[in-house]
Amino acid sequence: MSFNNLQLIEPVLQALDKEGYTHPTPVQEKSIPVILQKRDLLGCAQTGTGKTAAFVLPILQLMHEEKQNTEQTQHKIKALVLTPTRELAIQIGESIRAYGRYLPLRHHVIFGGVSQHTQVQAVRRGIDILVATPGRLLDLMQQGHVTLRDIQFFVLDEADRMLDMGFVHDVKRIITRLPSKRQTLFFSATMPNEIKQLASMLLNNPVRVEVTPPATTVDLIQQSVYYTEKHNKQSLLVHLLKDSSIENVLLFTQMKHAADKLARMLNNAGIRTEAIHGNKAQAARQRALENFKAKRTRVLVATDIAARGIDIDELTHVINFELPNVPETYVHRIGRTGRAGAKGVAISFCDWSEKIFLSDIQKLIKKTIPVVKSHSFDVPGMHDIIQPAGNFSYGNNRSGGMRKRHSRAFTQRA
Ligand code: AMP
Repeated sequence: MSFNNLQLIEPVLQALDKEGYTHPTPVQEKSIPVILQKRDLLGCAQTGTGKTAAFVLPILQLMHEEKQNTEQTQHKIKALVLTPTRELAIQIGESIRAYGRYLPLRHHVIFGGVSQHTQVQAVRRGIDILVATPGRLLDLMQQGHVTLRDIQFFVLDEADRMLDMGFVHDVKRIITRLPSKRQTLFFSATMPNEIKQLASMLLNNPVRVEVTPPATTVDLIQQSVYYTEKHNKQSLLVHLLKDSSIENVLLFTQMKHAADKLARMLNNAGIRTEAIHGNKAQAARQRALENFKAKRTRVLVATDIAARGIDIDELTHVINFELPNVPETYVHRIGRTGRAGAKGVAISFCDWSEKIFLSDIQKLIKKTIPVVKSHSFDVPGMHDIIQPAGNFSYGNNRSGGMRKRHSRAFTQRA
């Protein structure tokens, strides 16, 4: 199928052409016609599938057509895209700019951690589409700078991540301020019960679109795991990075302080590295991201929340310095590479305490990740034991107990 079959208007098609997109991705193919028919949508799709264009393109089109039909010249906020992190908000803003380049619609992106002055000015001048993170949006609403009374399109992006980050309360408060007559598009990579409830609160007879469940999107990615002792992980990392075919690496750690420590260690070893996490000022995070995209740095160390949705074309490698205790997080992480059909490599380090996470991950993705044997920092004993030995017997309490212990890493604000 080509974009020409999707009833898109000429200025949108031209923008896609300019972006070099030739064919819609599955989520685009399924969602665009539904949204153009003004139906609500429940999308089960993760970042990397092309879901941003799947909702941005038809919204741009519907808004433009309505403006033309009613000969409106004013810019009122008619579309709200709510997304959990600043990085995602910025990326969605960039997508709207790119896809809407031939349309006279205005958008603006608002998020916390920076002065609100420019954001307030932009809203005052008039915008059609607002992309926002929940906290700052609520602030600006409470101060009377933003009203949602004209909203016709509401997109809730990465709903499961909103939940993980503790934003659901904010989201619910925002929802109460939306007009009841609107079109709602709801996206979530996973659909736990709480998300299903939120969806049923928000959506009116939605069409459900599901693309390659997370567990199968990883098929193009070459995965491997290195067993090693915790104290050898840094040496193993430096050793692996001697391989120059590893062009650029997104390196995941669980904790913010570990990200900085690793970045320092790698720079000392002569490997250009920066860290990106929630404690860094917004400008520093953007700079780190730009440097990485421009290949001025080779390694970007990130925590899950800071990296959520980061869109880096041609990312060759993802390395999990630690394995995540939530198996879906593994899928999100490695999905940063192998984008839009490209091949990618995902390497994971696994120490004794993480074997249980590895087994959860393998259950989720329904495959065994090949183990690299006989490397310089190998622990031969780990190859034989499937379940962790000794103290790592969590019994029925396993997931609850462990997940709680690490939960700080998943609830920090980005
Ligand atoms: P997303 O899932 O929205 O974060 O998109 C993932 C990546 O795919 C982004 O780099 C997009 O620019 C790219 N992309 C989206 N749609 C297409 C398409 N139809 N053809 C090629 N690349 C695309």
